[in-house]
Amino acid sequence: MKKKIISVVLASLLTVAALAGCGNSTAAPAETASTGETLVVGTNAAFPPFEYVGDDGQPDGFDMALIKAIGAKIGMEVQIQDMEFDSLVSSIGSKIDVAIAGMTVTEERQKTVDFSESYYEAVQAVVVPKGSAIAAADDLKNLNIGVQLGTTGEFIADEIEGANVSAYNKAIDAVNDLINGRVDCVIVDKNPAEVFGAQYSDKVDVLPGTSFDFEPEFYAIALPKGNTDLANKINAAIQELKADGTYDSLVKQYIEE
Ligand code: GLN
Repeated sequence: MKKKIISVVLASLLTVAALAGCGNSTAAPAETASTGETLVVGTNAAFPPFEYVGDDGQPDGFDMALIKAIGAKIGMEVQIQDMEFDSLVSSIGSKIDVAIAGMTVTEERQKTVDFSESYYEAVQAVVVPKGSAIAAADDLKNLNIGVQLGTTGEFIADEIEGANVSAYNKAIDAVNDLINGRVDCVIVDKNPAEVFGAQYSDKVDVLPGTSFDFEPEFYAIALPKGNTDLANKINAAIQELKADGTYDSLVKQYIEE
């Protein structure tokens, strides 16, 4: 799957170039959240394998497939809005109805939004230059650390003693600066770290979060605060997709393959 994602990412660059100038009615951005039968879903399509731009130029990935399956269960048409990760939570209730973006449930975010039940357990990983001596939590002190803006990787890096943290809009940009020597390591969620690690396997290593005592994180769909009707419907749909095997087949297709 990682090889496939890399080729999809490369192909998507070509596709975007090929599509430039062609009318694309499905890409029209909604200014406000829709009502009725359309569910406007925010994501940040730069977080493979959960979301990335597919070879048709549209967001693809595990989260995209999951939210479409949820939409089908609850009888709503899913319309995806690709935006900065850091804008997702504050856009719920205005530009978007809900967000799915490999988003970790945090207490801070819960002040603004509700979350569905969790659909995936994750953990941060550390991407280092190949052959790096970085191996444990103490080694991260006083380093230049790259992270993605507004993510749990950034929140962890901010707590590391003496760390000089650089935040990027896209995690891949942090990885590129690691390769260029501008940062010493990158803290990013394990699954995208592995995709980027496979993409640059001659240049970087991916170290597991367990070596650094990182806590498990739980991904969930961010929902408008207090909308229990929508939350109940989405949670019921997640349960059904787990029970009918759809969830497992999406994990195999997008994450484990
Ligand atoms: N899981 C991380 C977070 O919620 C990163 C998510 C992302 O970059 N899409 O902050």
